[in-house]
Amino acid sequence: MKELILISGSGRSGSTIIDLLVAQIDGVFSVGEIMYIWDRGLRDGWKCSCGELVSECNVWREILFDAYGDKYLDRSFVDKVIQLRSRATSVRSLFGGIVSSEVKKCRKEYREIMQRLYSSVYKITRCKVIIDSSKEPGNAFLLKSFSDFNVHVVHLVRSPFGVAYSWTKDVKNKALEEKSLPTEGVFFSSLEWLVVNSILLAKSKRLSSKLVEYESFAHNPKKSIQYLISSVDPIRCSSLQFIQKNDVSIKTKIHSVSGNPCRFEVKNTITIKADDKWKRELPLTSKLIVGITSFPFLLFKSVFKKINERI
Ligand SMILES: [Zn+2]
Repeated sequence: MKELILISGSGRSGSTIIDLLVAQIDGVFSVGEIMYIWDRGLRDGWKCSCGELVSECNVWREILFDAYGDKYLDRSFVDKVIQLRSRATSVRSLFGGIVSSEVKKCRKEYREIMQRLYSSVYKITRCKVIIDSSKEPGNAFLLKSFSDFNVHVVHLVRSPFGVAYSWTKDVKNKALEEKSLPTEGVFFSSLEWLVVNSILLAKSKRLSSKLVEYESFAHNPKKSIQYLISSVDPIRCSSLQFIQKNDVSIKTKIHSVSGNPCRFEVKNTITIKADDKWKRELPLTSKLIVGITSFPFLLFKSVFKKINERI
């Protein structure tokens, strides 16, 4: 079986830093948010975290050629995969019984295309485990249907206040000529946080997912990474000596195709800390909007936990 760790959750939840840490374990290859390789990587000219354009990175060129031959250079093929992805991973597609035969056909075709890509990653990099931080819930369900893959889903939840604050900040996108990452108002970012996390929690049994809270990870990174890899046979006993309290030694250069710009800031040592600037910098009205919008999930989480404890 091919082992794959998938981080799911809402945007700006801290998945890139977790991805980077797990990639420091021998035998693990980080693909970043690989589901966006088609638009961001091949169509829009984003950089791989090695500094080269994704389309010019030797590692990705070799992987893509192994999977598709020269076809990945064909713009019409790339556009077609982007369209297939949109239908195959939409929220509607999660509800198997009510999707149209057209969507089922898209899911089948997109699944075959992506399965070839992941298989080539294993073959070319000779890794034992892939870590993927493509967070969308629809993608998690699609990957779970891969044959011959053991997909370990991690449901990453960050405080909705930290997420909402992060969406309001002007962050340079180092993958694309220093343009800024998109920003979002606190209501819509909190609504997205609510929907994504509720879906993932409601489907946690079907996904066999593990819940990891970003704030717990930031408090004790080693403990969270140990928990995260504990069911992944090839690496579950790996030494995590590179994590000393909150300091992490970064030795492995990664080739992630998309994610937070921190994937470019690979220094010898990075310090993990919870970003609590929102406490000081988010206006009171914004805090109220975030609190009211995200409250149903916190209630749902508590009720869900109690129900599961009774079963
Ligand atoms: Zn690269």
